Amino acid sequence: MRQYFTDEANKKQDFLDLLSSKKKVVITTHLNPDGDALGSSLGLADVLIKLGHEVAVVPPTDYPDFLRWMPLQENITVFEGNDREKATQLIAEAEVIFCLDFSVLNRIKEMEGEVRKSTAVKVLVDHHQQPEDFADFVFWNEQAAATCELIYLMLEQTLGTDALSAEGATCLYAGLVTDTGSFRFPATTPDVHRVAGELIAKGVKNSLVHRKLFDTNAVDRLRFLGYALNQKLIHLPEYRVAYFSFTKEELEQFNSKNGDTEGIVNYGLSIAGVVMSAIFVEREELIKISFRSVDNFSVSNFSRENFDGGGHHNAAGGRSYQPLDKTVKKFLKLLPSQKADLLAQP
Ligand code: 5GP
Ligand code: MN
Repeated sequence: MRQYFTDEANKKQDFLDLLSSKKKVVITTHLNPDGDALGSSLGLADVLIKLGHEVAVVPPTDYPDFLRWMPLQENITVFEGNDREKATQLIAEAEVIFCLDFSVLNRIKEMEGEVRKSTAVKVLVDHHQQPEDFADFVFWNEQAAATCELIYLMLEQTLGTDALSAEGATCLYAGLVTDTGSFRFPATTPDVHRVAGELIAKGVKNSLVHRKLFDTNAVDRLRFLGYALNQKLIHLPEYRVAYFSFTKEELEQFNSKNGDTEGIVNYGLSIAGVVMSAIFVEREELIKISFRSVDNFSVSNFSRENFDGGGHHNAAGGRSYQPLDKTVKKFLKLLPSQKADLLAQP
C-alpha cells in the first residue's frame, strides 16, 4: 500500500506553502536511532537549513558510537539526558515537527507527550507497518527500503534536491546502506540503486561510508561477537530458528555499550535453512528483543502479537517486562504454533 501525500496535488501545494517561509523545525526519530533514523534526520536537516529554516534534530535517546562519524551532528539535541530542558523547549517552540523512521508515537518514548501536546504541523515520513494517524502530512510507503529513500523521493517531488550537500547526501546514503543490509534485502529495487547513484554523484564517498559503518569495531566488540557466536548461539533446526540471549552481567563483562548487540541477530539468519532469528537483551528496565526473518515469515506480526512490538515484515523489534529466562521460555513455547509456517518457507 502506498500513501504519498504528493498523490494529492493540493496536499503537495500545502506542504510547499508551509515551508515557503522560515519556520522553526524539529526533526525527530525513534529511540535508539540507527543509521536510517539518524541519516534521514540529518539529511533532511541539511536541506531545510540550506533553505533558511531553523532546524533542530531531537532524537528521544542517544545514538550509538558507530554513528558518531556522521556529518551535521552539531544540529542534534538528545532529549533524554542533560539537554532535556533545551530539547523540551525546542519541541514546544517548533512550528513544524518531522517524524522520521517510526510509525507510532510510542516509539519516541518520553517525548511522546511533548509531541502530542505540540500545536506544530506534523509530517510523518516512514516505511514501518501500521502507521498511527497523527500527522497532518504523511509520506509513507511500507515497501520503501529505507526512510532515507523516502526523504530523497519527497525532496524530488517537493522541495528539490539541489540544496542537498555532499554531507547531507552522505547521511542519506548511510541510511540506505543500513536498512538494505548493504543493498541486499528484498526491498532493494532499481529505484533504490538510482537514489544511491544520485547520492554518490552528489559527492558521497561510498566506500568510506561502508568502512565507517562496518569496519570501525572496538576490539571488545569483536570479542563479544566471538563469545556470542561461540557460546550463545542456539540453533533449533527442527524449527528453522536461531536465537541469542544476553544478561546484563554478560554485557558488562565485555564492556558492551548500547549498540554493540546491533547486527548480532543477523548471524542467526546466516545459518543455512534458518527462517527466523531472535536476540534477547537484558536492559535496565526491560528485555529488548529483535527479530529477523526471510521470505514470507512475518516477524512484525509475530512480534506484535506476542512481544508488544512491530516493525517490518522481515525485521521487527519487541519488548518484555518479564525476566530474561521467562521471556526466552515464552518464545520457545510459541515455536510449535509457528512451525508449519516456518517450515513452509523456501
Ligand atoms: P530492531 O530490531 O533493530 O530494534 O528493529 C527492527 C525494525 O523494527 C526497525 O525498523 C525498528 O524501527 C522497528 N521496531 C523495533 N521495535 C518496534 C516496535 O516496538 N514497534 C514498531 N512499530 N516498530 C519497531
Ligand atoms: Mn528505517
